[in-house]
Amino acid sequence: SKRARLDRFVSQQTGISRREVRLLLALQRIHVDGEPAHAINQVIEQFSRVSLDGRILQSARAVYLMLNKPAGVVSATRDERHRTVIDLLGDRDTSDLHIAGRLDASSTGLLLLTNDGRWSRWLSSPEQRIAKRYRVTLAKPLTPDYVAAFAEGMYFAYEGITTHPAALTILSEFEAEVALTEGRYHQIKRMFGRFRNPVQTLHRVAIGSLELDPDLAPGQSRALSADELARLA
Ligand code: URA
Repeated sequence: SKRARLDRFVSQQTGISRREVRLLLALQRIHVDGEPAHAINQVIEQFSRVSLDGRILQSARAVYLMLNKPAGVVSATRDERHRTVIDLLGDRDTSDLHIAGRLDASSTGLLLLTNDGRWSRWLSSPEQRIAKRYRVTLAKPLTPDYVAAFAEGMYFAYEGITTHPAALTILSEFEAEVALTEGRYHQIKRMFGRFRNPVQTLHRVAIGSLELDPDLAPGQSRALSADELARLA
């Protein structure tokens, strides 16, 4: 688990009994994030730095990756039959990573992976309304009435909701950019489905102010820079 009580955590990491941990605590030999620990039931967060006599017991590091997802790979950490995005990360330790905002198997582009659950929850929380931008190619020509329909919102009977206003920009006869502030199941495909216009390709180019690095070939990934992280927040 990502959070633990201090006494349990130190005991598990060192093999010292919880009674003894209490004593070490009283002697101020345990520090959390640089401060002497004060209570056995203090909550240890995922990325807290806990030390005993100056020796670090945990220093989990927050990991934030962007991946240029290729088509045909599923946005899951495990799958019985298909290759997953995790399989693309090479020999990196991926055991604690999860996906912050999935893409369909056929979709491509910007995918974020992290071990920081607080960050991914914030990123995908409906109140944040962080815009995700997609490049879409269609089977049939676009017409100006798409713009109003996307802006107005569409009723999805299955969920019983109306989609938030979405910005559709026509780029050429068969190509549009769509900005969504939510992520309903197959949302873009279903929205174009109202016009009987099948989506041919769907590529995510940005999440908020974070754009897919054009130097990343499909299947390649890299860590977010401190600057990218800060701008996103
Ligand atoms: N909308 C879709 O239909 N698919 C995606 O992968 C993302 C948005």
